[in-house]
Amino acid sequence: MKRLAVFTSGGDAPGMNAHIRAVERTGHKRGLEVIGIIGGYAGMLAGQFEVLDRIRTANILDRGGTVLKTSRCPEFHEREGRDKAVAQLRAHGIDGVIACGGDGTFHGAHFLHEEHGIRIVGTPGTIDNDLSGTDFTIGYDSAINTAREAIDKIRDTADSHGRLFFVEVMGRHAGFIAMDVGVACGAEYVAVPETMTDVDLLYQRILAQGRDARTIVIVGEGDELGGAMELGRLMKERYGLDSKVSILGHMQRGGSPTVRDRVLAARLGAAAVDALLSGKTDVMVGEQHGEITYVPLEQTWTSRKAVPPYLLELSNILV
Ligand code: ADP
Repeated sequence: MKRLAVFTSGGDAPGMNAHIRAVERTGHKRGLEVIGIIGGYAGMLAGQFEVLDRIRTANILDRGGTVLKTSRCPEFHEREGRDKAVAQLRAHGIDGVIACGGDGTFHGAHFLHEEHGIRIVGTPGTIDNDLSGTDFTIGYDSAINTAREAIDKIRDTADSHGRLFFVEVMGRHAGFIAMDVGVACGAEYVAVPETMTDVDLLYQRILAQGRDARTIVIVGEGDELGGAMELGRLMKERYGLDSKVSILGHMQRGGSPTVRDRVLAARLGAAAVDALLSGKTDVMVGEQHGEITYVPLEQTWTSRKAVPPYLLELSNILV
């Protein structure tokens, strides 16, 4: 292998830049040329490739987002689109690829391997932490700390006025962010996509606080009742409760990555380069129990990673 490419795809996550830097540095230490593909699969299709060197990856480590940009690329769902992308990889002499993203990105990467024999490994880059095969994903730690900071501030104002707040955090299919920040911020109730929201229990918890007391309810955006707005509306309709709704939204994706995310991003970047050099392909490089692990890309979406039960228990005990 002489020339490897790296790209970021799907939802952006803090730590992606630290990851790109680690791939570039490790690649060069191993005597490889390193190419950055701009804009995820869309850029791969369009042939938007650039050489990465020390200068290009200097001063990006602490920046949120991704200097390689990212995209959603519908064309990649079709074989024809993927054929075009492979033609570009071949034209640019790429013989190994690192795809940093979530399970959508890994679907595409798996097809590149299966249909064309492209040597490709995935690295988990998503704030949702919902990929099995790794304990944590790049961006998750930063996102929960950003949410924690925002919720601490909401708590100050909620406390002063004795208000009920529904705070919506990201996580379309998984409640990792909601559960962790729920426990970290002492929420009175946490609604997550994994479990049915018990509206009566929620009402009891609110009452237990006292009608005019501060109450914080964390709602994962994928909650089956339809998010914080809907839950607030339901509590008004059913119990006559007034509340405020705060949707943290895209701010959770931004900002400078935490130490944990930078170290994870660096470690997985270096490990991904070495995985390609040792002939691995069609796997995600992750970290489990402190060790680097490799799981087939397919496993990252066929087996669902569960929110640790201790978090659910804790959030019920600590109210
Ligand atoms: P994430 O990687 O964060 O899960 P997406 O689900 O948006 O984000 O996926 C990123 C991109 O990966 C998509 O825009 C598309 O180009 C490609 N992709 C997603 N799912 C598939 C699939 N089933 N087959 C081929 N490519 C896919």
